[in-house]
Amino acid sequence: MLRVDHVSAHYDGVQALWGVSLQVEEGAIVALVGSNGAGKTTLLRAISRLLPVSEGSITLDGRDLASAGSHDVVEAGVAHVPEARQLFPMMTVRENLEMGAYLPAARAQAAQTIAHVFDLFPILGERRAQLASTLSGGEQQMLAIGRGLMLRPRLLILDEPSLGLAPLVVRSILDIVRRVNREGVSVLLVEQNVSHALAIATSAYVLENGRVVLHGPAAELAGNPHVKRAYLGL
Ligand code: ATP
Repeated sequence: MLRVDHVSAHYDGVQALWGVSLQVEEGAIVALVGSNGAGKTTLLRAISRLLPVSEGSITLDGRDLASAGSHDVVEAGVAHVPEARQLFPMMTVRENLEMGAYLPAARAQAAQTIAHVFDLFPILGERRAQLASTLSGGEQQMLAIGRGLMLRPRLLILDEPSLGLAPLVVRSILDIVRRVNREGVSVLLVEQNVSHALAIATSAYVLENGRVVLHGPAAELAGNPHVKRAYLGL
């Protein structure tokens, strides 16, 4: 469904991505791993058209996104949950979810989608009237994912959903990601927690210094000596 072909991107003349290629097949969970500054967030931002691409192409269902704006990408069914969560702190949980359904088709189904999000994350249902700023880190991450789901996406892009969270919370969030995927949403997941990411992913890409250095089935990468040494501490 998503195809990134030889993409390069720059920040003020400094090159951050070098000919990166990646594919997300319908129904897959694709993990993108790599150390700090490898270019993972940059690649996600290029896909969502939040950052211009200087070379290469990005297509969604065969449609070139070169002339698309970030809004077109959302309309095409891609929801991007950024690393910093970017919630509306002075709005309640429910209001944040409602704000997420900003496309007409999503708005029409907002009530059902909110019920579904509360089913996935019962704690958010319990705290529906609480201000987002007063949620715990894990709850905020759940709300950020829930808000992404309000768009009823076909592809969910998650930038480090486990950042700063306790191991138990990380596991429960990744379990939900797997459940969302089973319900038919493809996922592109950036994750520093490589062992967790590889455990739920179909395939994975390793990015180093803005280049893909390895890719393949997640189970295969989990056994790769370089991945084991550099990312799994084995
Ligand atoms: P992390 O896990 O730390 O978030 P990352 O793999 O997501 O890392 P990026 O944030 O994509 O890495 O950064 C890739 C490179 O681009 C880094 O060298 C970073 O310093 C640089 N970079 C990122 N954002 C900007 C920016 N707004 N302006 C200039 N350079 C940037």
